[in-house]
Amino acid sequence: MLTTSLDLDQDGFQKGYIDVPVSLDLSAWSNQRVPIYCLKNGSGPTLVLLGGAHGDEYEAPIILSSLAHGDLKAEDISGRVIIVPALNMPAVQNGSRLSPIDNGNMNRAFPGNPTGTATERIADFVSRELISRADVVLDLHSGGRSLNFVPSTIVPVQQTDTATQAIRRIASAFNAPMTIVLREPQVETMIDTEVERQGKKILATELGGAGLVTAETLAVTRRGIKGVMQHMGLLAETEAEDRSRSSLTVHVDGFHHYTYADDTGVFEPTAGLGAHVKEGDVLGRLHLTDRVETPPVPVLARTGGIQFCVAGQGLVRRGDCLSVIGHPID
Ligand SMILES: [Zn+2]
Repeated sequence: MLTTSLDLDQDGFQKGYIDVPVSLDLSAWSNQRVPIYCLKNGSGPTLVLLGGAHGDEYEAPIILSSLAHGDLKAEDISGRVIIVPALNMPAVQNGSRLSPIDNGNMNRAFPGNPTGTATERIADFVSRELISRADVVLDLHSGGRSLNFVPSTIVPVQQTDTATQAIRRIASAFNAPMTIVLREPQVETMIDTEVERQGKKILATELGGAGLVTAETLAVTRRGIKGVMQHMGLLAETEAEDRSRSSLTVHVDGFHHYTYADDTGVFEPTAGLGAHVKEGDVLGRLHLTDRVETPPVPVLARTGGIQFCVAGQGLVRRGDCLSVIGHPID
């Protein structure tokens, strides 16, 4: 069972590691240390900020690291903020979605296993030590190299409408350009399910992607985290925030929102991120570069709405997600 040297219930600023002993080919007694920071000032709500669940998503490691290294101070808050900028640290160091140590996908490993792989043991630590202390978990993702998103928050559909609405209010406070209300296809093994099981709230994000990080997506991330802290009462509202551009909300309620590659080839997108499309519209063309007999194949929208996610890299394989379309809601 993983431990940390930090006392997560102590006032003040602390930094240290989650110790993850692993035995590898090149290092029999290695300890893959995952940085963790705790800022606490009296009683008040607890926000857990997680980044780097996937190693090719860069906004969160950058902004959370900046917060931990001085952008946020314990004396500025009323309550507690626990920060883990690079949760699946081996994956973050490898720039890969999955951990190179055990091929683990951090967000398909919950609730975790105290005697499992490194990834499963980190997930177990998060469930036992972090979610248990949290009022709100902010699980910060981007699209990674294979997907690219309009910078968005993800509201996971909860068992009750009241619970979903509460998370939508947190998403409003984050105020990303888009808010996506959805139930993920593999939610049973995702952190969402464990947070809901413990009666806490979770907001996730998809802040960009395609293996890139931009000044714009970083600005959305920085502003969004601050908005959530103010919404929770952790941080005083100092200056009036510009909320003139409010988030556009869409929902996703089935596989017809997703368009997949039917073959392996090079994808030519013709509809951009944020495009309004109708069912049957051409989203792009798939070029089967290895065949003389097949012209480029049109890729069609399976539903109408706003395209908020597009394939993040040119080469796609059969079954890859090419596009996701949301239905606008109020
Ligand atoms: Zn991710």
